[in-house]
Amino acid sequence: MSTVSDKRPASSAECDPLAQVADALFRPMGVKGVYARTALYVQVLDCLERYITQQRDPSAEVMRFPPVMSRQQLEKSGYLKSFPNLLGCVCALHGTEASIRSAVERHDAGGDWTTSLSSSDLVLSPAACYPVYPIVAARGRLPAAGVQFDIEADCFRHEPSAHLDRLQSFRMREFVRIGSPREIVAFRERWMARAPLLAAELGLPYSIDVANDPFFGRVGQVMAVSQRQQALKFELLIPYTATAKPTACMSFNYHREYFGQVWGIQNENGEPAHTSCVAFGIDRLTVALFAVHGLDLQRWPSTTRTALSL
Ligand code: AMP
Ligand code: ZN
Repeated sequence: MSTVSDKRPASSAECDPLAQVADALFRPMGVKGVYARTALYVQVLDCLERYITQQRDPSAEVMRFPPVMSRQQLEKSGYLKSFPNLLGCVCALHGTEASIRSAVERHDAGGDWTTSLSSSDLVLSPAACYPVYPIVAARGRLPAAGVQFDIEADCFRHEPSAHLDRLQSFRMREFVRIGSPREIVAFRERWMARAPLLAAELGLPYSIDVANDPFFGRVGQVMAVSQRQQALKFELLIPYTATAKPTACMSFNYHREYFGQVWGIQNENGEPAHTSCVAFGIDRLTVALFAVHGLDLQRWPSTTRTALSL
């Protein structure tokens, strides 16, 4: 198996195998955790997306979301109670022509034009699935078998970092299931049994573990403990290098009736629907493939190449 370490240069800064991977896959854009993707990266990312598409349930409805969503919908979803520190809000210059011009002139004079900004009705989507629940609610009661979706969005989380696996802008693909508690639990269990097979097919070392979301502040710690106790979140973790702390590349989330209640999504009997989402961190998985198998696609394991149709 080829690894990036085969081509390690001598200098200590460049001895980090992930630094070589980063150089081949990303181009800096002047802000931590925000990168341009190279052709090599996009080639593998596209193959990975097709591979995930092959795993989709035939009944799933496909929807692609833009990187922004309604601020009011995200507020109603309770995001501010859980992760206010991660949220990015779209702001704009809303004033009159004169006030907008004076903001620009302030900038021209070396001052700060952003003090004239005010919030718009958009936020940057922090996860792909938030917009799907109000869409389903607006359709009325669920059909008997519930519904499922294949969705994707470029997401934003305000967590600037120099690490390759912690981006501010990253792609998230999700399979979302909405239905009765029995259907939802079965959906998540099926996916947790299946994900290891996918990781094995891709030649990626993995573990699956119970997890919690990074809820904000002291109250958040209580929420995190409760989430773990109820086993509402699991993650598929992949170590990028033999010694690295594993990175969460997929998550398996059970929201119980939370979104069903918030949005008034009812099953055929009029009870609040339960929901679950299986999230693929597309960027983290793509980086994992390169970190584990190296930069030379020809030398990737044949199972990986076959799975990805490389
Ligand atoms: P979560 O909603 O936190 O479970 O996120 C779903 C998936 O998105 C995670 O399993 C990661 O693979 C990916 N993800 C979350 N945060 C980031 C980030 N800052 N940078 C890159 N990928 C991320
Ligand atoms: Zn989700």
